[in-house]
Amino acid sequence: MKKVILMLVDGMRPDAMTGCGNPYVKTLLESSTYALEGKTVYPSDTLPCHISLFTAVDPIQHQTTSNTYCPPVNKVRGLVEQLDAAGKKAAMFYNWGELRDVAKPGIFNFSLFMRDEKDAAITDYAIEYLKKNSPDFTFLYLGNVDIVGHHHRWMSDKYLASVNTAIDCIKRVIDTFGDEYTYIITADHGGHDHDHGSTCPEDINIPILFIGESFEKNKSIEASIMDIAPTVADLLEVEKQNCWKGKSVL
Ligand SMILES: [Zn+2]
Repeated sequence: MKKVILMLVDGMRPDAMTGCGNPYVKTLLESSTYALEGKTVYPSDTLPCHISLFTAVDPIQHQTTSNTYCPPVNKVRGLVEQLDAAGKKAAMFYNWGELRDVAKPGIFNFSLFMRDEKDAAITDYAIEYLKKNSPDFTFLYLGNVDIVGHHHRWMSDKYLASVNTAIDCIKRVIDTFGDEYTYIITADHGGHDHDHGSTCPEDINIPILFIGESFEKNKSIEASIMDIAPTVADLLEVEKQNCWKGKSVL
């Protein structure tokens, strides 16, 4: 059983990933089972999408429908809670503070938040931590692309350059750890003009790539952001919750 590293680029559209000019994207696609029209949830905003990723249910069910966390009446047990119950270790590296609520407080074995820090720096910290501690599940969140999208417009040259930089971070992680891990690469939402949040394809379509021995190479599939938690649960052989809406792609 391989451990899992989930890398998420905030606001990375699939056509930005394939069109950012980074030659490593071709390698990623050739070595992965991938959805280039993967679907995120509505509202296509960062916190609702992340809670859906980690709990495998729609925002209507987890009840966080904006970037302000809303403690639900009936808390859905998410991926990290399931990992913890099975004695697995999880770590998280992020530069957008609201993501602290993707799991129950204190449940990550290690969590590093660096406000306003560059993606490359947060990646450095993640790599150093992984070398020493090798958690079963790692979540590496890269937040710079979304910020550039809001400032300069989605698909602008500066936005595409920031996607290119994020892909370099992902490459550095995979080059460092190679076959030791299974990798999942995705985004929380896309964007258009200077924003996101709607149901339009530019906002809703996300890339979802699965790389590792459990996955066929160079294979296109359909997938939802809600499928990621059940897939990680299968990869790490921990129980899924019956209420999870997403389905494992394995
Ligand atoms: Zn945003």
